[in-house]
Amino acid sequence: MPSTSRAGSLKDPEIADLFFREDPEKLFTDLREIGHGSFGAVYFARDVRTAEVVAIKKMSYSGKQSNEKWQDIIKEVKFLQRIQHPNSIEYKGCYLREHTAWLVMEYCLGSASDLLEVHKKPLQEIEIAAVTHGALQGLAYLHSHNMIHRDIKAGNILLTEPGRVKLADFGSASIASPANSFVGTPYWMAPEVILAMDEGQYDGKVDIWSLGITCIELAERKPPLFNMNAMSALYHIAQNESPTLQSSEWTDYFRNFVDSCLQKIPQDRPHSEDLLQHAFVLRERPESVLIDLILRTKDAVRELDNLQYRKMKKILFQEAHNGPTTETQEGDEEPEHGPGHTGTVSSVGSNQSIPSMSISASSQSSSVNSIPDAADDKSDHDLEKDHTVMSNSSVIHLKPVTRQMQEHEQDSELREQISFLESQKREYKLRKEQLKEELNENQSTPKKEKQEWLLKQKENFQHYQAEEEANLLRRQRQYLELECRRFKRRILIAKHNVEQDLVREELNKRQTQKDLEHAMLLRHHESMQELEVRQLGTIQKMRTELIRLQHQTELTNQLEYNKRRERELRRKHVMEVRQQPKSLKSKELQIKKQFQDTCKIQTRQYKALRNHLLETTPKSDHKAVLKRLKEEQTRKLAILAEQYDHSINDMLSTQALRLDEAQEAECQVLKMQLQQELELLNAYQSKIKMQTDAQHDRERKELEQRVSLRRALLEQKIEEEMVTLQNERSERIRSLLEKQAREIEAFDSESMRLGFTVNFHYLKDEWFGFYFVSFEEREISS
Ligand code: ADP
Ligand code: MG
Repeated sequence: MPSTSRAGSLKDPEIADLFFREDPEKLFTDLREIGHGSFGAVYFARDVRTAEVVAIKKMSYSGKQSNEKWQDIIKEVKFLQRIQHPNSIEYKGCYLREHTAWLVMEYCLGSASDLLEVHKKPLQEIEIAAVTHGALQGLAYLHSHNMIHRDIKAGNILLTEPGRVKLADFGSASIASPANSFVGTPYWMAPEVILAMDEGQYDGKVDIWSLGITCIELAERKPPLFNMNAMSALYHIAQNESPTLQSSEWTDYFRNFVDSCLQKIPQDRPHSEDLLQHAFVLRERPESVLIDLILRTKDAVRELDNLQYRKMKKILFQEAHNGPTTETQEGDEEPEHGPGHTGTVSSVGSNQSIPSMSISASSQSSSVNSIPDAADDKSDHDLEKDHTVMSNSSVIHLKPVTRQMQEHEQDSELREQISFLESQKREYKLRKEQLKEELNENQSTPKKEKQEWLLKQKENFQHYQAEEEANLLRRQRQYLELECRRFKRRILIAKHNVEQDLVREELNKRQTQKDLEHAMLLRHHESMQELEVRQLGTIQKMRTELIRLQHQTELTNQLEYNKRRERELRRKHVMEVRQQPKSLKSKELQIKKQFQDTCKIQTRQYKALRNHLLETTPKSDHKAVLKRLKEEQTRKLAILAEQYDHSINDMLSTQALRLDEAQEAECQVLKMQLQQELELLNAYQSKIKMQTDAQHDRERKELEQRVSLRRALLEQKIEEEMVTLQNERSERIRSLLEKQAREIEAFDSESMRLGFTVNFHYLKDEWFGFYFVSFEEREISS
């Protein structure tokens, strides 16, 4: 807490604005206590300006932990300022006076818990439905504004004269959701609040749980586990199945409603909005249910108060006659009780006695057992006045007068005991003096009578003195014992704290070790993975390189082979070209021979023709004929010669052409063949390459899979180990806390047996969840 927010400081204007400056003593009269809680008391009062009836919650912020109390007040006031809804208590302002905040709000007749207390029996189902409906509407409003009440119970659900249901007591409320503090009243607490560690968070669903518990409370008069000690109840709620309605007389609507509210897993629990649609609250019921209930309760209260009043009168009458030595408490042990209205009943039967708790609000204790001395001190006249006012006033609080007095907190520490003893002593002295005076006055009476009277008085007096001394001694002894027990209990708690510290340290050490181990495993896994990836990469690179080399060689070989083939073909062609003249010559010779043959034939034919012509023609003509023949022959031979030349040339040229063409064709064929082979090689090589690439991909994927599987297994192992450790941890803590709770319980029940009463608070510990913080022991008035 910053130092500026010291208790009562109004330096901060934002804080100062929260309070009115007027003196509340002047503004409100007629104050009468009507309720009590962990902080102090709630009063009925009248506003002098408007004559309006209001309720005032007085909260002191002096004494121990005043800063925390001040912060609690500021929190509650801020909260009340923010909310406005027909189903939440109307806030009217806050005043400060003498280290006490006066929180003024609309007046209600009493709480649902008061109804149970007055009637001493459960409410009817339609009444429960009506109360629940109203509370649920209030909750839906809070939840829709992201706020959590955190202390829903019958004691905090109030009823107004016209039968309206109002949520009250925002001392534990949270202005934000989710929240994580350990706040509430044990028996009504949701499991997630009990289990909320630092990281654990909860939301408005915790109010739904408490509403479910409140339903059971209204149906069975007590919340479940109420006969258990609060600590054990907390364990029980956190560990065991949810409670249900016991009796089978309730409808399925009601049972189902309670069951849904009491789902242990918050996610399974409906929202307040959802529950507003539940048949249990929507089902038709007479509109006057709550008004009838209130009237019924008022009658019962009047009846009780009359009874109580008569009893009081009787006690006071006896007291007046027996003298002041009669112990006032004896009055409570009168045999004819009213319907259960004794001092001790309220400690068990009334919720008022269970303080709600929160981190900061641990400072104030709630009232518990005995009828306070204040009540005993009341004079006949006071009581009569009280009674008259309560009965005649138009406002009848739904609580019998006696109970209101019982609820008044008694701070019966030593100081009070001593002052009580002192007053007794004073009284004793006074009486002594009175007696002396009387003695003096009575001097005139006869001596014997006087002596007798004196003797009797002396006896009385000695008796009285002895009694008082014994009383004093007894009280001192009891006080010593009380201190002793108190000290022992403190030691026990200190021991518990040390035990908790040790366990915490050990567990933390183990946790750290495990964390280190896990971190190492993960690191190992990662370096292994890196190694594997690197290795695979190297192998694949080598393989690729090898294939590349092989392909290159193949290609070179192929190209060389191609060249060789081409070379060979060329050589063959050259040979062919070289061999060509030989065959040409033989062909030429052949043609020549043909030509010669032709010439010979021609010559022969010419000779025959010449002979024939010479025979047939006259001799004179022979010369001319011969000449003509010769010319003819020469011309024909010339033609032949020409023909010969021509055919030789022809042959030569066609022969060369044919060779060229053939060789060309052969070249083409070879080229094509080689090209094809090269292409085949290329195709083959790229196929190999693709296969290799695919293989590499596959290998990489396999490696990835292997690695991630290994990782998952490792993580699973780590997770399992963490869970085991966590379980072990909670088991250790649980058993330690249980053991300690048992020890405290044993100690406390021993204290009870020895005649002490024990009060304790809880406080959230940042690590364990909760533990006892402080406790108070008070003597049982006997
Ligand atoms: P605590 O925080 O101590 O529980 P509450 O605000 O719940 O304090 O008040 C304690 C009791 O006082 C309630 O149970 C109820 O009986 C009574 N009370 C509180 N506010 C009012 C009110 N506005 N009108 C009538 N009674 C009230
Ligand atoms: Mg309360």
